[in-house]
Amino acid sequence: MDVVTISTKSKTYPMYIGSGIIDQLPQLIKDTCKTVSNILVISDETVAQRYLEQVMVLLKTDFKNSYSFVIPAGEAAKSFEMYYQCQTFALSRGLDRSSLILALGGGVVGDLAGFVAATFMRGIPFIQLPTTLLAHDSAVGGKVAINHDLGKNMIGAFHQPNAVLYEIDFMKTLPLKELRSGFAEVIKHGLIGDREFYHWLIREVKTLSDLNKEKLQYAVLKGVSVKAKVVSEDEQEKGLRAILNFGHTLGHAIEAELGYGEITHGDAIAIGMIYALRLSEEIFNFDLSSSSIAASFKRFGFPVTVPQELPPEKLLQRMKMDKKATSGKVKMILLKDIGKAVIKDVDDKQLLLLLEKSYE
Ligand code: NAD
Ligand code: MG
Repeated sequence: MDVVTISTKSKTYPMYIGSGIIDQLPQLIKDTCKTVSNILVISDETVAQRYLEQVMVLLKTDFKNSYSFVIPAGEAAKSFEMYYQCQTFALSRGLDRSSLILALGGGVVGDLAGFVAATFMRGIPFIQLPTTLLAHDSAVGGKVAINHDLGKNMIGAFHQPNAVLYEIDFMKTLPLKELRSGFAEVIKHGLIGDREFYHWLIREVKTLSDLNKEKLQYAVLKGVSVKAKVVSEDEQEKGLRAILNFGHTLGHAIEAELGYGEITHGDAIAIGMIYALRLSEEIFNFDLSSSSIAASFKRFGFPVTVPQELPPEKLLQRMKMDKKATSGKVKMILLKDIGKAVIKDVDDKQLLLLLEKSYE
């Protein structure tokens, strides 16, 4: 098992990563939470069907008052409606200020359950039990949120978990599409913060089927370590944390223009990362081997060019609407080298010119 310590200004907490480690959950709860009166496990129906019983059985011995609430699977569950239902369930089961929430699932469950925990009786502890590869990203860092019709993740809080327990075995049932989506964030972490890890990835993982348990565990460990380092320096995104958005400025624009759900987040940011790499090469006049990186991306099954149906002007407009855009210029995350990300305002004209060259 690997243990990573996540340190932020507001909290320091352990993350366990390993295969066959779920049994350690009761002890981890005792080690990281003071007195726990009762526990609410929030999961989604797909994950619950496979792993909820196992978790509830583990809890029952030490924590008699353990309850579970299951939400529908998918992004639509990050809603006011589900948030309200979780709160109602928590209140009706008598949860109080010494209760604990467990988030058993991917980023959707983590974000929703975390926001429930952040606001229930002005905030109670929660523990993340991530079950997707993407959740190596979402389970660390303390951003929790639900969606509003006018924008994704618009209603939320910063609320760090008390601990994270990453059972690698749970990912054996993850559909390939979801694995790939999470893998894009793993690569991102290598590219922005750990050159050696990035080269390990390219060397050891030729296609996603190479991701056996051991490699998956190492990839999660390294990806999380980059994220943890960034978050420890800038918990509330006052500056540096923005580098985690590498590939996301164009990625988000593509997701929004196509309509959410039409493309996975990972596929969208894969296109965004290739674009950002090419832009970096132009701006810093430095060869980052973007063509060979694009070839690796293709082997993993990622798209690397902008979908034909999306006009460049529309995408630019979207990029300018990004939360991170200031004074009309788009704030791009670029690489000065593999493993070295910087934040830079870029002119519309340059963005558009490169966009025009980013179709097949
Ligand atoms: P998800 O939670 O919807 O999971 C994807 C799908 O896989 C779901 O259908 C789920 O039921 C299924 N699934 C989960 N685990 C499984 C398993 N072990 N076996 C089989 N099926 C399984 O999505 P996600 O990709 O994990 O997360 C996406 C969400 O994360 C988005 O809402 C995004 O905004 C959020 N996010 C948050 C942060 C953050 O910092 N808080 C960072 C990145 C992403
Ligand atoms: Mg992302």
